[in-house]
Amino acid sequence: MNAPASRNAAPVLRSDFTDEVAGKTIIVLGAGRSGRSAALLLAREGAKVILADDYATSVDAAYHESLSALNGQILLGNVQAELAAQAHGIVASPGVRPTHPLLVCARERGVPIIGELELAGRRARAPIVAVTGTNGKTTTVSWVGHLLAKAGFRVAVGGNVGTPFCDLVHQTPDWFAIEVSSYQLETTARFHPRVAAILNLAPDHIERHPTSEQYLAAKAQITAKQTAEDTLILNADDAAVWSVAAKTPAQVWGFSLYRPVDCGVYLDKGTITVRPVSGRPTALLEAAKLSLPGLHNVANGLAAAAVAWACGAGADAIAAGLQDFPGVEHRLERVRCRRGVWWINDSKATNLASLEVALCSFSQPIILIAGGRGKGAPYEPLAPLVKTHVRHLIVLGEDAERIRAAWASHVPTTRVGDMHEAVAAAAEMARAGEVVLLSPACASFDQYSNFEERGRHFKELVRQLEE
Ligand code: ADP
Repeated sequence: MNAPASRNAAPVLRSDFTDEVAGKTIIVLGAGRSGRSAALLLAREGAKVILADDYATSVDAAYHESLSALNGQILLGNVQAELAAQAHGIVASPGVRPTHPLLVCARERGVPIIGELELAGRRARAPIVAVTGTNGKTTTVSWVGHLLAKAGFRVAVGGNVGTPFCDLVHQTPDWFAIEVSSYQLETTARFHPRVAAILNLAPDHIERHPTSEQYLAAKAQITAKQTAEDTLILNADDAAVWSVAAKTPAQVWGFSLYRPVDCGVYLDKGTITVRPVSGRPTALLEAAKLSLPGLHNVANGLAAAAVAWACGAGADAIAAGLQDFPGVEHRLERVRCRRGVWWINDSKATNLASLEVALCSFSQPIILIAGGRGKGAPYEPLAPLVKTHVRHLIVLGEDAERIRAAWASHVPTTRVGDMHEAVAAAAEMARAGEVVLLSPACASFDQYSNFEERGRHFKELVRQLEE
C-alpha cells in the first residue's frame, strides 16, 4: 500500500507509553485489521482495552466475542475526544489523522500515543527486517520471506498489508520480515529493525507535496534507532533515498540497476551480483532468469537479495529463490498459459503509474483490459505507451468512455459491460505469443468490493476457459 504524504502534522510521540499494560486503560483508535490485532494483543496482556472507531466498521461477531471475553469494549461511531481522559495510553491506527480530536485531546493531557508497529516491535523476540518505500513493499518483503525460507531460516512475514505484526509477535521465528508504511513509521519511537530497507520515494510525492521533507523524514525513521551493528539497505539509483545514508549510524548497503555499488547488490552486464563489505563480487543470477517480469521487479529482486544477504543467507539459496519466487497475488500474477497466450492478473494496478509499469514489463503485444472507477487523473499522457505496447484495448466500468476517448485513436478498442465479457472478448482475439493483461488503472469499487475480489473473479473466469 502506498502512503500519501499529504498529512500535515505527525502525532506527538511518546516513548513513555507503558510496556506494562496490565490493569491500564488503553484506547485503540481505528478498528481496521491492525487496530483489531493491537486491541486483542493488549487485552491478552490484561489491559482494559477500548477499541474505538468513528465509523460503524464491520467488526465481526467472533472478534467481538473474543475481545469481550477479555473485558475489552468496542465503541463504534463518532469517537468523543474526552475519552482520552480515561486512558493511560493510545494506540493510533495508521489511517487515523494526527488531527483527530481524541489525539489532540490526548496530546493536551500528556497521554502517550504510539502505533501498532511500535507496539508489536517492542514485543518481538526475534530480529526484524523492515521494508519501506513508495512502491514495491509487498512484493519485496514477500520475496525476502521466500529467500530467507530457502536459506533455511524460519521467517514470519507480515505488516502493513498482510498479517498485522501484532498477530505475529507471539511467534519466535529466526526473522520477522515486516512491510512498513510511512504512516506507521510516524508513530514509532523505539522501533529498531536489525535490517532495514528503503526501496524508493516517488518523485511525484517529493516534488508535489509541501510536506515532502516530512515524508522523507518519516521514511528515514526506519533507521532512527539502528546502530553500527545493523544494516540499512538503500536504493543507490534514487537520490532522495540515498540521502538517508548520511544520516544513519547503521552500515549502509546499496542496490542499483545501473552501476556497481561499493557494498550491496547490483547488475553487472545483466547479472545480479553481490559485493560484500570486504571481499570479491559474487555473481548470483542473470536478471533474465528472475521469476517476475519488468525492470521494477529487477529492482525489487536486488533489494530482496541485499536484505537476505544481510540476514546471512548464502549465495546459492538467494539465487534459487530469485528464480522461483511465485510473486504476490494480483501484481502481474501469471494466471494461465492457454494456446500460447499468457493471462496476467494485475488487479492491484489501480492507478496510471502502475499501468505504466505493467505495460513496460512485457515485450509481447498486449491485449489490455482496463477501466473501473477512475481517480480523476487524465489518461492522455499514457497514450504513446499504450500505442507501443497494446494491440487491442478492452474497456469496462465507470471510466470506460473516458479511457476510450483518450486512447481509441491509437489502438483498436472494444467496450464491454463486465469482466465476463472482457475475458470472452480477449479469449476471442488473443493470438499465440501475446499477453492478455488485466491492469485496470482504476479502482474496483464500481463493480467489486476491492481489487482482490476483482482479481479473483478475473482468474476464475480465465481458468474456466476451455483448453
Ligand atoms: P506496495 O506494497 O508498496 O504498494 P506492491 O509490491 O504491492 O507495492 O506493488 C504495487 C504496484 O507498485 C505494482 O503493481 C507496480 O505497479 C508498482 N511497483 C512495484 N514495485 C515497484 C518499483 N520497484 N518501482 C516502481 N513501481 C513499482
